[in-house]
Amino acid sequence: MGISANSFCPCGSGQKYKRCCKQYHDQSFQPTPLALMKSRYTAYAIGNAGYIVETTHSENREFKQNKELWKAEIETFCWATTFHKLEILKSEIIHSEAFVTFRAIMSQGEKDISFTEKSRFLQENDRWLYRSGEFL
Ligand SMILES: [Zn+2]
Repeated sequence: MGISANSFCPCGSGQKYKRCCKQYHDQSFQPTPLALMKSRYTAYAIGNAGYIVETTHSENREFKQNKELWKAEIETFCWATTFHKLEILKSEIIHSEAFVTFRAIMSQGEKDISFTEKSRFLQENDRWLYRSGEFL
């Protein structure tokens, strides 16, 4: 887990991590919905559970008041999973709501757990949050 700042970013941008999702992880910039989607994928890939928790809307069904327990669950998932590739299929913003459709190529051991999801993001107080996801 973790990543060097000079490694290629796991989101697949072709940029170094420090020039890509790290800027959002460090909260140097507020991400657009597309950048939020990518930086959340990267956070999963490198085990940055804090970023997942901070960018999840309080009405998301995974949301837990016990942040420490929630982070530990995310870390367990991250450690058990290999994140191979992220493919963005579609991205649209409609006022304070946004949708990003993506395919995440992932595996756990020998098992392929890749999936396609249409994520929904909501803007609150000038920042975007992950509200929910629908499997396609
Ligand atoms: Zn990135």
